[in-house]
Amino acid sequence: MKTCLVVDDSKVIRKVARHILETLDFTVREACDGQEALQCCLESVPDVILLDWNMPVMSGMDFLRALRDSDITQRPKVVFCTTENGMAYIRAAIEAGADEYVMKPFDRETLASKLQIVGMA
Ligand SMILES: [Mg+2]
Repeated sequence: MKTCLVVDDSKVIRKVARHILETLDFTVREACDGQEALQCCLESVPDVILLDWNMPVMSGMDFLRALRDSDITQRPKVVFCTTENGMAYIRAAIEAGADEYVMKPFDRETLASKLQIVGMA
């Protein structure tokens, strides 16, 4: 089974994402900010990370930088999850190491197609 780490400060979003991902046969873990996500990756690197942009403690962008600068050699696929639709945000995320992005709110079909793009569906 493929593993996905859902990183979002919204419990509702995490619940929705978990439900969708489980119907797509993923084993799901959750983190509520970038720092917790980094800790999860240190324990075990997931196949893919669904990553929120705006979070307290450590943002999605800071998490990407921290992951890049960490000793973790295995690189998970990262789907950046944002409500910001400005190209500048998306470009910054891709430059920081995201593989793909998805706009919130997303449905099962949209998320499945993004996961397919990064080779995870
Ligand atoms: Mg958020």
